[in-house]
Parts: sequence; structure tokens; C-alpha cells
Amino acid sequence: MAALDEFGEIVKRNEPLAPYTYLRVGGPADLLVLPRSREELAAVVRCCGRDKLPLRVIGGACNILVRDEGVRGVVVRLTEPVFTEIHVAGNRVQAGAGAAVSKLISRAAEAGLAGLETLVGIPGTVGGALRCNAGDRSGDIGQFVRQVEVFDAKGEVHVRERDELQFTYHWSNLDDPVVLTAEFQLEPDAPDAIVKRMRKAWILRKAGQPLTYQAAGRIFKNPRGLSASALIEQAGLAKTRVGGAEVSEREAGFIVVHPGGTARDVLRLIDLVRSRVQERFGVELELEIRVW
Ligand SMILES: Cc1cc2nc3c(=O)[nH]c(=O)nc-3n(C[C@H](O)[C@H](O)[C@H](O)COP(=O)(O)OP(=O)(O)OC[C@H]3O[C@@H](n4cnc5c(N)ncnc54)[C@H](O)[C@@H]3O)c2cc1C
Repeated sequence: MAALDEFGEIVKRNEPLAPYTYLRVGGPADLLVLPRSREELAAVVRCCGRDKLPLRVIGGACNILVRDEGVRGVVVRLTEPVFTEIHVAGNRVQAGAGAAVSKLISRAAEAGLAGLETLVGIPGTVGGALRCNAGDRSGDIGQFVRQVEVFDAKGEVHVRERDELQFTYHWSNLDDPVVLTAEFQLEPDAPDAIVKRMRKAWILRKAGQPLTYQAAGRIFKNPRGLSASALIEQAGLAKTRVGGAEVSEREAGFIVVHPGGTARDVLRLIDLVRSRVQERFGVELELEIRVW
């Protein structure tokens, strides 16, 4: 029997991942699984453990570069309503890990709950944002988290409470295989005031993103006290191109991919940028994007 055969129609074999990713490059997953319920997801996680199949969850794939060779094992996408629901109760909002961060922000704003609006314009899902502690100098998602519900490698549910969780710059200690839901503690405020701050944050964030390209990724972390984009720009690397991958002219921390570009092009461009910045400034740029 082939791997995960018992899950029938929720499993897609040899499924190209590029269309699911922000950079629109990369090869297929051996098995892409779209569970319809928590029970089904738990069973998939248990099976992966039993059969020693590598298991990964893909969110909006805004922070993932899939290699052209593709991904061995199982990739799970949490797109069914059971994984994307958002509930508001008092000053708390509970969101499924598959929900878009933009939805979470707008639901909170509608309910007159403030805090998350500084994250407006960050693409991706709640699960991905928690793993990467998405945010910037004006705040990050981690600071509002009260608890996170996860599946461990045996498909059992655990609740990670605030005091067990650590969030630092683009990092969290959430390393369970699957994040299921998260609860956020927010502050009441007038919806008008929240929307005003959202607009301001949106303008600021969009000013720092490439505009014209659909396929773009924020590649490097900012080294302590420095800006990755500024270093890349000062090294004269804006618009540098390898195959179909190009350092964005507008925001040098991003790489954009032209039609026909490959993950290999992106990886070669990353190596070139890192070595030039190292030579010029003695700074080692760390990857923000996760390479699969
Ligand atoms: C145009 C653009 C602008 C951006 N601006 C910002 C910014 O201002 N600030 C910032 O911090 N980031 C920014 N990013 C990066 C990215 O948007 C964030 O890191 C985002 O939070 C990633 O979410 P995602 O759902 O796409 O995660 P993915 O890229 O799909 O996944 C990221 C990691 O999280 C894991 N993961 C995802 N979901 C789950 C889950 N349910 N359970 C377990 N693991 C999971 C994945 O396996 C992977 O390891 C930007 C990216 C782009 C393309």
C-alpha cells in the first residue's frame, strides 16, 4: 500500500507546490494533504509518525522557498473552514492557524479590539506568523498571544500557555509539528481609531515592499542594529539578476522572480548577495526565508 493511501481524496500525490507559494517557484511535494477535520489531521500526523514520513505545514508560503527538486514526505495545508475560523469573546480573539492574518486583523478591528493593526500588510496565515513571529519595529504578533493549541508528533492536542512561549525577532519557540489555533488578548478601542492606525501602517508597509511583482520574497533578516536592505543597496546589488531572479530595485531586501525563473536562480542570487555583503561590510546575512 502506498503512503497515506487510507486518506484517499484528501491526498494529492506529486503535487506542484509553486502555485501555493508567494515566489511561485519550486518542485512538487510527494504528498500534499488537505485535511477536512481535526480528527483527519490528527490521523495524518499519527501516520507520518508511524511511517517515519517527514511532515511540514505550509501556510501562505510567503516565507518559504521550495527547491526545484521539491519536498519529500508530507506537506499539509489547513484551508478548510474548521482551520480558519475566527471567534471574538470579550477582549480575546481566537483564530485558526489557517486563517489569513489580514482576516484576523479586520475581525479584531470590527470588534473594537486593538493591537494587531500594526501587522496590516504582512501576507500569510496565523500559523506561519506565529512560527516566524511576524512583525517589525512597531510590534509583533507574539506580544498579543495568550495561548496556542498545537498537535504534537503523536497527533495529540496540547495547549502552550503564554509563560511557556518565547517570541523574539522573527523567531518563536513554537516547534510542535502543527499549530492549530491561537488566542490573542487585545485592548478595547474605538473601531475608527483602529482603522486610522491600520491605514497608516498599511501605507508604511507597502512603501517598503516591491509593488509590481506578484512573485516576491523577503529574503534576509536584519542583522542586529542594521538593515539588510540598506546593506544590499550600499553594496550596489539592487537590480542584480541571476536567471529569472532579481534583487528588487524598490526594496533591496526582497527578491522578485520573473516568469520562467527557478528556485535555483533564487538560491544562486541569495549566495551572490550574501558573499558580496560579506566581502564589502564583513556582515553575514542570515536567511529569513525558510528553504525547503
Ligand atoms: C511581500 C511580503 C512582505 C512581508 N512583510 C513582512 C513583514 O513586514 N514582517 C514580517 O515579519 N514578515 C514579513 N514577510 C514574511 C511573511 O509574510 C511572514 O513571515 C508570514 O508570517 C509567513 O506566514 P505564512 O503563512 O506565509 O507562513 P509560511 O511561509 O507558509 O510558513 C513559514 C513557517 O511556518 C510554518 N508553519 C506555517 N503554518 C504552520 C502551522 N499551522 N503549524 C506549524 N507550522 C506552520 C511553516 O512550516 C514554515 O516553517 C513578508 C513577506 C512578503 C512576501
